[in-house]
Amino acid sequence: MVPMRTVTLNNGVTMPQLGFGVFQVSEEDTYETVAEALRVGYRSIDTAAAYRNEEPVGRAIADSGIARDELFVTTKLWNDDQGYDAALAAFDDSLRRLGLEVLDLYLLHWPVPGKRLDSWRALERLAREGRVRAIGVSNFMPHHLDELLTRAEIVPAVNQIEVSPFLQQREARAASERRGIVVEAYSPLTKGQRLGHPVVGRVAREVGRTPAQVLLRWGIQHGMVVLPKSVHPPRIAENAALFDFALSPAAMAELDALEEGLVTGWDPREEP
Ligand code: NDP
Repeated sequence: MVPMRTVTLNNGVTMPQLGFGVFQVSEEDTYETVAEALRVGYRSIDTAAAYRNEEPVGRAIADSGIARDELFVTTKLWNDDQGYDAALAAFDDSLRRLGLEVLDLYLLHWPVPGKRLDSWRALERLAREGRVRAIGVSNFMPHHLDELLTRAEIVPAVNQIEVSPFLQQREARAASERRGIVVEAYSPLTKGQRLGHPVVGRVAREVGRTPAQVLLRWGIQHGMVVLPKSVHPPRIAENAALFDFALSPAAMAELDALEEGLVTGWDPREEP
C-alpha cells in the first residue's frame, strides 16, 4: 500500500490529499476500477450524480471491507437539481445510490445563476443535520465566492476547480485559500494533453518519476487535493505513489512557469 497524506478542512474534518476521480468511467467499468483503486490504497473517491456511476461506486466501497471511517466519499449536486427543495431531494437520491448513511463531502457541481444561493442553503441544512460531514463548491471563481460568502452561514470546506501547471487558477486559488477553503485540483493530468511536455518530461527524469506523478506532486506541494482518474491498473497505482518523493524548489519554479490558460473541460470564468 502506498503512503497517504491528509489535509484538515475548515470544520476540522480530515480528508486524503489524493482522491480517485471517476468522471467518464462507464457504469460497467466503475465497480472494478474503484475496487482496484481501493486495493492500491486510495481512500477518497470523487463521483457526482452527473457521472451516473454512484451506484457501482457504492457497491465497490461496500464490498471492499474497508471500515467506513477510513473512507472519504464525495458526490455533487447536478445543475438540473439546483434550488432548495430539489437539492434536498437530489441528496437523498445520491445517498441511496451510494448506499451510505452519511456522506463525507457534498459539492455544488457548478455555480448555476439564480439558484446557487438556494442550493447552498440546502447544503447548509444537510450539514447541520449531520447528513454530510463537509460541504463545498466546484467551479466557483472569485466573483462566485464573493457572492456566496455574503450570504453563507457555513463557509465552503473546498472549492474543486480545474488546476494544473498549465492552468494555475492563481486568483481562484488565492480567493479560496485566504478564506480557509481547500482547493481540489480536477483534471490535474490535463486529461493527458500535456504529459508529453518537454519540461515535465525533464523534471520527471531528474526525479526518477513519471510525467503524471510530476503533475500530481506539483499540486500536492502547492497544498491542493489532487483528483486523477484512470481506468488502467498500472496508472491507478502510478498516480497514487506521490508521498515518497519531492520536487525541488527549482523544479517547482520550472513547473510554475508553464501557465498557458489551458482549459480542458468547461470554463466557469464567464458564468455570471
Ligand atoms: P485527468 O487529468 O485525471 O486525466 C485523465 C486522463 O489521463 C485519462 O484519459 C487517463 O486515461 C489519462 N491518464 C491517467 N493517468 C495516466 C498516467 N499515469 N499516464 C498516462 N495517462 C494517464 O482528467 P479528468 O478530467 O478525468 O479529471 C479527474 C477527475 O477530476 C475526474 O474523474 C473527476 O472526479 C474530477 N473532475 C471534476 C470536474 C468538476 O466539474 N468538478 C470536471 C472534470 C473532472 P485512462 O483512464 O485511459 O488511463
